[in-house]
Amino acid sequence: MEKEDIERIRGEFPILSREVAGRPMVYLDNTATSQTPGRVVSEIERIYTHEKANVHRGVHTLSQEMTDLQEHTRETIRGYINASGVDEVIFTRGTTEGINLVASSFGSRFKSGDEVILTVMEHHANIVPWQLLRDRTGIVLRVVDINERGELDLEQYRSLFNERTVMASFCHVSNVLGTVNPVKEMTAYAHAQGVPVLIDGAQASPHMLIDVADIDCDFYVFSAHKMYGPTGIGVLYGKRRWLEEMPPYQGGGEMIAKVTFEHTTYAELPFKFEAGTPDFVGIAAFAKAIEFIREVGMERIAAHEHELMEYTQKRMLEIPGLRIFGTAPGKSAVISFLVGDIHPYDLGMLLDKQGVEVRTGHHCAMPLMDRLGIPGTVRASFAVYNTREEADAFINALTRATAILS
Ligand code: PLP
Repeated sequence: MEKEDIERIRGEFPILSREVAGRPMVYLDNTATSQTPGRVVSEIERIYTHEKANVHRGVHTLSQEMTDLQEHTRETIRGYINASGVDEVIFTRGTTEGINLVASSFGSRFKSGDEVILTVMEHHANIVPWQLLRDRTGIVLRVVDINERGELDLEQYRSLFNERTVMASFCHVSNVLGTVNPVKEMTAYAHAQGVPVLIDGAQASPHMLIDVADIDCDFYVFSAHKMYGPTGIGVLYGKRRWLEEMPPYQGGGEMIAKVTFEHTTYAELPFKFEAGTPDFVGIAAFAKAIEFIREVGMERIAAHEHELMEYTQKRMLEIPGLRIFGTAPGKSAVISFLVGDIHPYDLGMLLDKQGVEVRTGHHCAMPLMDRLGIPGTVRASFAVYNTREEADAFINALTRATAILS
């Protein structure tokens, strides 16, 4: 992307011009959450100032306008991920809630001894809900390993399927390794064995176009806050056939057709899975984040991030003792690393003192850390607004921190 384009994009993110430790901030924690453009913030303010009324509840003008705004986002998301209908787009609090919903509701059909396939690179959000289900039902979790580049062992993946397998659930992109998994092929294989698939798209949706029809997955989940959108909003895409069969996840207002003390019938999709008042302001504003992504263009976003990541990685490798975890070809714009035996927290703190915001620790992927035999990593991750100058500032800060700590 041209320098002027990046400058124009950065202009939409006032937070990027703040300082940390008396220096221009370099924000490289985009995998945890990305920053939010002014148009999303303005939309939230506009709604609180002029539109706020509860959705789907009133005949009055404000309620109808607010409902239209929320449902406009649902249609925007439907088109964006190529779902076949808005009834397949369920608003959640985020990726975590989406996976919990599926594990709890779809998982209610599983029996003791049934097997669910996960991978060793999963975020805790795609491990613990299945463990909770295991504690309730006695299902068995099977785990796919990785190779030295951080790619899934696909031969092992295929070998784990048997007549007891009832589900495969894996990430599209690893939040630590950046590996982009071949989700379409993995889904096709699972389907050939009659097994449905859930894909954790938390780290894919900010960096690539998602086409659920093309992938043909049964469920796909992601969070708005990693996609330049508001916090506390997420999407669960599910195939209509499954969603219709599944019992509700939570009970309350909005998800019912008729309630008596003897018996309750449920609302149609997608409302059956949207009990209570949603974050309708955030949902409405999420459409502005999608508008931002579309305006810049996902191909351009991905190309820019990739180029920046490659450049940074190349320069980082000049630092003696630096090891990168996750070297799969075509990986996403995430660099997890360690330098010698320096503790990641120490590096992270010294980087922060120089204005560079990176994440340190286990990244909610403790089983992966165990697999790699390390306590954690430092992780730098990029978004569309990051620049080559910021990459240089990061390298300089890292070189200084390493010299101090070695
Ligand atoms: N899955 C992956 C791969 C993630 O990276 C994250 C967050 O970092 C999550 C799930 C959880 O997302 P959230 O906290 O938005 O629910």
